[in-house]
Amino acid sequence: MAAMKLGCIADDFTGATDLANNLVRAGMRVTQSIGVPTCALHSEADAVVVALKSRTVPAAEAVDQSLAALRWLKANGAEQIYFKYCSTFDSTPQGNIGPVTEALMQALNTRFTIATPAFPDNKRTVFKGHLFIGEVLLSESGMQNHPLTPMTDSNLVRVLQAQSRGKVGLIDHLVVARGELAIRGRIGVLQAQGFSIAIVDALTNEDLMRLGPALKGMALVTAGSGVAIGLPPNFGIEPSSRASHLPLPAGWQAVVSGSCSLATSQQVQEFIRSGAPALAIDPLRVASGFDVAAEALDWARPLLPRGPVLVYSTADAGTVKSTQQQLGVEEAGALVERTLAGIAQGLVKLGVRQLLVAGGETAGACVQALGVAQMQIGPQIDPGVPWCYAVLPTGEGLHLALKSGNFGAPNFFGKAFGLLQ
Ligand code: ADP
Repeated sequence: MAAMKLGCIADDFTGATDLANNLVRAGMRVTQSIGVPTCALHSEADAVVVALKSRTVPAAEAVDQSLAALRWLKANGAEQIYFKYCSTFDSTPQGNIGPVTEALMQALNTRFTIATPAFPDNKRTVFKGHLFIGEVLLSESGMQNHPLTPMTDSNLVRVLQAQSRGKVGLIDHLVVARGELAIRGRIGVLQAQGFSIAIVDALTNEDLMRLGPALKGMALVTAGSGVAIGLPPNFGIEPSSRASHLPLPAGWQAVVSGSCSLATSQQVQEFIRSGAPALAIDPLRVASGFDVAAEALDWARPLLPRGPVLVYSTADAGTVKSTQQQLGVEEAGALVERTLAGIAQGLVKLGVRQLLVAGGETAGACVQALGVAQMQIGPQIDPGVPWCYAVLPTGEGLHLALKSGNFGAPNFFGKAFGLLQ
């Protein structure tokens, strides 16, 4: 098996897929692992992305998880390590970006790294160390009210300094604009001045492509998913459709949707408007003891040979609120996730081999129920959402697309199945 080039550690599941998707588009063959792999990879990969759930756990736990991922990646030949966090730099003064970065640096015995969540394709830009979300500063973007990681300061040098022991500096836009040699020169100066981490400005993809060559040979890179587009050339890898090549699709097609976001609601409506069969799940019926999963599978069984079916709990805000008032917010969420995960499992037993799941938490529940441990990353359906391929514990293959709520165009479901054929 060819050696892995890039070993990636992502602090959450959908963030891992986002990074994997960017690497595939830049020409790398990528496998995403749910947690640290416990067996050999199912397919050859230039990059492996280990998806952790370490963004908001206590810092010491995030460090332990990340070091375990690092050990596996290094043992399996990773030449460079990429620590991926959110493009809104989600963290608190306790971490976890700073503590994880410094623990990885220590384990890799390296004295300098960079940090930048810049992702211009997604309207995340960094200027003079300040993070902008679209037209506004991070601290005015709504992220200042985040329940777990409120971001009230847009100056990332200050934000990262508050959670790091080493000194945090800046490689600003004037340096980045002058390219690789200027960036390497600035890194040398910062190191001589005792800095160990530098926030890097980037406003455009061109900035990221200028940054890429300057990161060649750096043991650890830390970033959002944007920086990934400039790294594959360092390993002699060019964009190619072969990177996203998956085994041929087989079996029936189905969509399971537990997302109530606006984009998903439109996709559900569009699917129904196209005349395709769709079944709504009522959480209150589940709560009153009906075996809604069995009912859904009985409904789907005769329809599957004719084309894709949709099972959804997607509902408007008023309906969701009323359900939550009756069942409790968390109880309602958990009950719907459990039901949809059971339905996904049942659909696969009925012969579905092309499965779309809408909703971040819903996707997590389905992946767990199906026993998916690794996914080979394929072609992008819409920005941030690729088709993936997993080998199930039964040995059977499954094409899987996991869509977080607000992603995708209104015709996403139809478009996704079309792309796979
Ligand atoms: P998104 O990516 O859009 O946020 P998620 O799957 O992450 O979607 O979250 C949606 C949450 O809402 C899940 O916990 C899901 O179980 C819950 N949910 C889905 N449909 C309903 C509903 N009709 N009533 C109450 N809760 C629901």
